[in-house]
Amino acid sequence: MITILNDDFSQLNSFLHEKSFSRIFILVDENTHEYCLPVLLGNMETDLGFEILEIEAGEEMKNIQTANQLWEILTEMQADRKALVINLGGGVITDMGGFIASTYKRGIQFINIPTTLLSMCDASIGGKTGIDLMHYKNMVGTFAFPEQIFIYPKFLETLPFKELRSGFAEMLKHGLIADKAHWESLIQIHKLDVEAVVPHIQTSMDIKQDVVEKDFHERNIRKTLNFGHTIGHSVESLCLSQGNPILHGEAVAMGMICEAHLAFLENLISEEEAASVIENIQRYYPYLDISDFTDESITALLMNDKKNTDSKINFSLLTGIGSCTYDHQCSQENILKSLYFYRK
Ligand code: NAD
Ligand code: ZN
Repeated sequence: MITILNDDFSQLNSFLHEKSFSRIFILVDENTHEYCLPVLLGNMETDLGFEILEIEAGEEMKNIQTANQLWEILTEMQADRKALVINLGGGVITDMGGFIASTYKRGIQFINIPTTLLSMCDASIGGKTGIDLMHYKNMVGTFAFPEQIFIYPKFLETLPFKELRSGFAEMLKHGLIADKAHWESLIQIHKLDVEAVVPHIQTSMDIKQDVVEKDFHERNIRKTLNFGHTIGHSVESLCLSQGNPILHGEAVAMGMICEAHLAFLENLISEEEAASVIENIQRYYPYLDISDFTDESITALLMNDKKNTDSKINFSLLTGIGSCTYDHQCSQENILKSLYFYRK
C-alpha cells in the first residue's frame, strides 16, 4: 500500500503503533542521513529503540560486500524477526534494504520511504529488491514487498537536478508504455523542477502499481516496464565497469531513444511516432557519448539480460504512444542499426 504522508507523518506513526515491532533499523546513505533523516526523526513518534544504518551513497555500494556488512550489523545488534527496517533513500537504499531485510533470518519486515523521484515513482514500488554482481546490474535479488510505502514529496526539495531528471525518465516511460495522456502532460513541462513534477507523481506511481498488481512475477505485462532498459542497462553496466557510472534514468533515456527507433525498424510504430518520442526525450537529456563502447561489448551484455530466453534477446517495445509489447525478438541487424542511429 502506498500512502502520501501529511506534514506530521501521522500515517507513519499510526502504522508503527499498530504493529508490534521489536525495534527499528533505519537504513540511510550519507545524503539521506543529512537531508531526510532529521525530518523523519523530527516527526516519528515511537517508544521503540532505533538504530541508524548508514552506507556511502552511490550505485557502487549496491553489492554483496555492503549487504554482508549490513547482515553482520543486524546480527551483532541481535535484530530478531520482529525487527523493522525502514529504507529511507533512493533506489539504491530501497533495493539494498529490501534485499537484506528479505533475506536476513529468512525475512524481516521493511517499509520504504523513497526520497528520490526515481524511487518514488518506480524503485520503491513493485517488490523487486537486489544488488549488482560484478558489473551486472541487479543480478542477485528477491521478490519481496515492503509492508508499506510512504511518500513525502517534500524530500525532493534537496535532490540535485540531475537526480530529478533521472527519475523523470521512468515517468516518461510509464506514459509511453501505458498512458498516452500521462506522456502528453509530462512533455508539456518546459522547466523540469520539483514544482512541475510533483503533480504527476501519483499517476506515475499508479501506472507502476497497476502493472505490478496484474503480473507480480513478470510473466507477461510487467515486462513492458523494461522498455528502454535492455539497451539502457547494457550501457549503464558498461559505464559502471569502466568506473564512470551514469545515472539509471540517463541510461534509460538513452535506451528509450534507441528502442523507439528499434520499434520503428521492426515495424511496430510509424517513423513519425518514433521521431516524436525521440525528439521529446532529447529535450530533457543531453547526448550520452557511447563512442568508446563497441557493438560487441554492448551486444555481449544484451545477451546476458535477465529477460532473455532460449539465448534470444527479448525486447519490450512500443506499439504506439501509450502501448507496449514484450518478448519481441529483433534482428541483430536492427539492434546494431538502432545503436548506430543513436551514435550519429
Ligand atoms: P540513489 O539511491 O543512488 O539516489 C541518488 C542520489 O541522490 C544519491 O546520491 C542519494 O544519496 C541522493 N539522495 C537521495 N535522496 C535525496 C534527497 N532527498 N536529497 C538529496 N539527495 C538525495 O539512486 P536512485 O536514482 O534513486 O535509484 C537508482 C537505483 O534504483 C538503481 O540501483 C536501480 O537499479 C534501482 N531501481 C530499482 C527498481 C526496482 O524495481 N527495484 C526500479 C528502478 C530502479
Ligand atoms: Zn528503471
